[in-house]
Amino acid sequence: MARSIDPFQPEHIRRLVREFGSPLLIVDCARVRSQYRKLRRALPGVDLHYALKPLPHPAVVRTIVEEGGWLDLATSGEVQLAQSQRVDPKRCIHTHPIKRARDIRNALEFGVRSFVADNPDEVRKFKHHGERAALLLRVSFRSPGAVCDLSRKFGCDPEDALALAELAASLGVNVQGFSFHVGSQAADALKHVEAIEACTRLLAQARRARLGSLDTLDIGGGFPIDYLQHAVDIRRFCAPIRSALSRLPKRVRVIAEPGRYVAGPAAIGVASVMGRARREGHWWYYLDDGLYGSYSGQLYDHARYPVESLRQGEPQLPSVLAGPTCDSIDVIAENLMLPELKAGDLIVGRAMGAYTWASASEFNFFPKATVVAVNRRPGDTGGVE
Ligand SMILES: *Cc1c(COP(=O)(O)O)cnc(C)c1O
Repeated sequence: MARSIDPFQPEHIRRLVREFGSPLLIVDCARVRSQYRKLRRALPGVDLHYALKPLPHPAVVRTIVEEGGWLDLATSGEVQLAQSQRVDPKRCIHTHPIKRARDIRNALEFGVRSFVADNPDEVRKFKHHGERAALLLRVSFRSPGAVCDLSRKFGCDPEDALALAELAASLGVNVQGFSFHVGSQAADALKHVEAIEACTRLLAQARRARLGSLDTLDIGGGFPIDYLQHAVDIRRFCAPIRSALSRLPKRVRVIAEPGRYVAGPAAIGVASVMGRARREGHWWYYLDDGLYGSYSGQLYDHARYPVESLRQGEPQLPSVLAGPTCDSIDVIAENLMLPELKAGDLIVGRAMGAYTWASASEFNFFPKATVVAVNRRPGDTGGVE
């Protein structure tokens, strides 16, 4: 079997840009696999459902499924993507707490059976689907400290969770268990632990009251990765989670919904210098990708990507990297030390797989980056899509 190449090496980056143009998002499925395996080792016994949202790409979906993984779908578009890849719907859950009737229908027709709800109106939408659908009730555990606090917009108060389970039971809808998402890129696992402990109590109470099968706990996402700022190593991050989970009854299946951890480190963004200007004593380089494109995560996701030039050389000068649009906020980095660049030079952003291309727009008619997926099968030497 051929050894897989490392598409993040300069020679391969240049080759791929010659072939596919720029801007480019290079997705390395070998890294998707290794991230997935690392998290699996850090959370043994937890069934990892890749959340498509940060990088909804067919090659990533296939890679996860071929690893024996599961999927977390949240929209009809994500359902369609899984369907187009002929994913077994039994390996998918639907986790958007707020759904239109047609979103529920689309997911049911595909064959998804587990849904999330966090309020009485949403639970009532399943009144006529009790035969086919079961619910995970999403509970909110606020974490104002998280970079993205996902428990503000969604989730019921823990005190209201049992009443919600009673409502589902009264409508003939099975309550499978509880779910939460404490926030993305968590600094530590304290919130996860607090939420697991609270949900452990809720599962026991709801089971005593015979409100459903109560055999599932969904611990969400939030697993952090390195950006310019380093994150805790994943085994260490997960250690308190492992010990909190060990106190659950054995019959409870634990699942998680990692997105960023799987996709983030698995892609780099490559942009080209379109032109340059000297302003107030500094070089400004204008790239063909920026804050309205793959670097949109700097705005929406509050991420800071490590960026570097493929041109080596001295002296290194304080420089500004700007995006292509005519908007003045479209500046990627200032006071970056770079050698003198020319039009056509390549700039690489690392850890750009999650919440980057997915939230890019085509503002000013600058196209989104082309996505190229390499190492799509273990041992591949550069099959691309
Ligand atoms: C966005 C999202 C995820 C993924 O979260 P990460 O922090 O990227 O792992 C998982 N589940 C739900 C419901 C989400 O909305």
